[in-house]
Amino acid sequence: MQAGTTIFEHMSGLARQHDAINLGQGFPDFGWPDAVLAAGAEAITHGYNQYPPMRGLPELRAAVAGFYARSGLALTPDQVIITSGATEALAASIMAVAGASDEVILFAPAYDAYAPLVRRAGARPVWVALQPPDWQASAEAIAAAITPATRAILLNTPHNPTGAVAGPAMLAAIADLARRHDLTIISDEVWEAVLTSDAPHLSPFTLAPERTIKIGSAGKLLALTGWKVGWVVAEAVLAERVAQVHQFLTFTTAPPLQVAVATGLALPDAWYAAARARFTTARDRLAAALTAGGWALLPTHGSYFLMADLAASGIAMGDRSFCEAAVARTDDGVAAIPLSAFQPDGCETPFIRLCFAKSDAVLDEGARRLNAARQRLLGTGISV
Ligand code: PMP
Ligand code: GLN
Repeated sequence: MQAGTTIFEHMSGLARQHDAINLGQGFPDFGWPDAVLAAGAEAITHGYNQYPPMRGLPELRAAVAGFYARSGLALTPDQVIITSGATEALAASIMAVAGASDEVILFAPAYDAYAPLVRRAGARPVWVALQPPDWQASAEAIAAAITPATRAILLNTPHNPTGAVAGPAMLAAIADLARRHDLTIISDEVWEAVLTSDAPHLSPFTLAPERTIKIGSAGKLLALTGWKVGWVVAEAVLAERVAQVHQFLTFTTAPPLQVAVATGLALPDAWYAAARARFTTARDRLAAALTAGGWALLPTHGSYFLMADLAASGIAMGDRSFCEAAVARTDDGVAAIPLSAFQPDGCETPFIRLCFAKSDAVLDEGARRLNAARQRLLGTGISV
């Protein structure tokens, strides 16, 4: 991979270059609500084009509070700050609570932006490994990582790339340790509505609201990943600390998109249930086709992602080597993301991440190509 380029950018670039099926970078090719697009166009045309308030348009902050009220969270709009995507929310939250010579606990594997953002804040990432197959961390493992320099625990549930959800034991341990050691919990919940099993989404905000920063993204909720509208939810004191950073990071977020997202967050429960069901159908379609082709897959509960185990599928290749070779085949290429890109040491693993948020035709062709790659590779371990 080119130095300085994210794995997502790298693999999408190769997919375009080789005209490959792109099951790498996580973006859907279906699923966004037309009413939201229309509301955005209308807002641009009718004058929502100057700086909005720093913390976000009042109608969107109210809409975020209204959206979470559906799942029983009682929030006031002053506990909501609109950001330019969850990425800015993460940056502002980390910078608000950690600085030079501080430590932030991260769980491995981790979304690629976390460790660089912690380092940009001047702090040091301290890693706790999530344990397959359900990708949880024990109270003992988390406690062992805490030192007097620890300021925050950064959690991601549902989890990218594994699709795991943090269970009640892990969340209770995090809340308990955060209270005992005076830590902030930064909870990246961008995939909270993209649930593909019956496993519930649980937020540490319900366990320790006074010390949790909950992060959301309209990109995921409304299948509009390029819009980069996100938010932070926190109690007033913590929200103010994040707002202090946000005002000099981006200050505001495009107001027509904020208006449109407010429309999206007011969509009926039935729309959200149908969206969830559609992603589950897509996950099942890809999983069935790959399983029929002999692939060993890991269980997944949320996000757009499914992990495949190369070794258990009979492929004696590292994840990065497999992905680089699989995308580059003329007329037969398929892009996936190596799990090693999410690991602190970057060492090759036997796991690849596949994005299933695609139309049936793309999933079927992607699975056909992956199955063909597996057949070519079985027992050889030399080339895709
Ligand atoms: N956190 C996680 C876990 C993600 O998967 C993503 C994007 N896929 C983000 C943050 C970034 O979200 P946004 O595009 O809203 O910045
Ligand atoms: N979050 C998306 C993914 O995991 C990609 C975001 C990006 O390209 N930076 O695929």
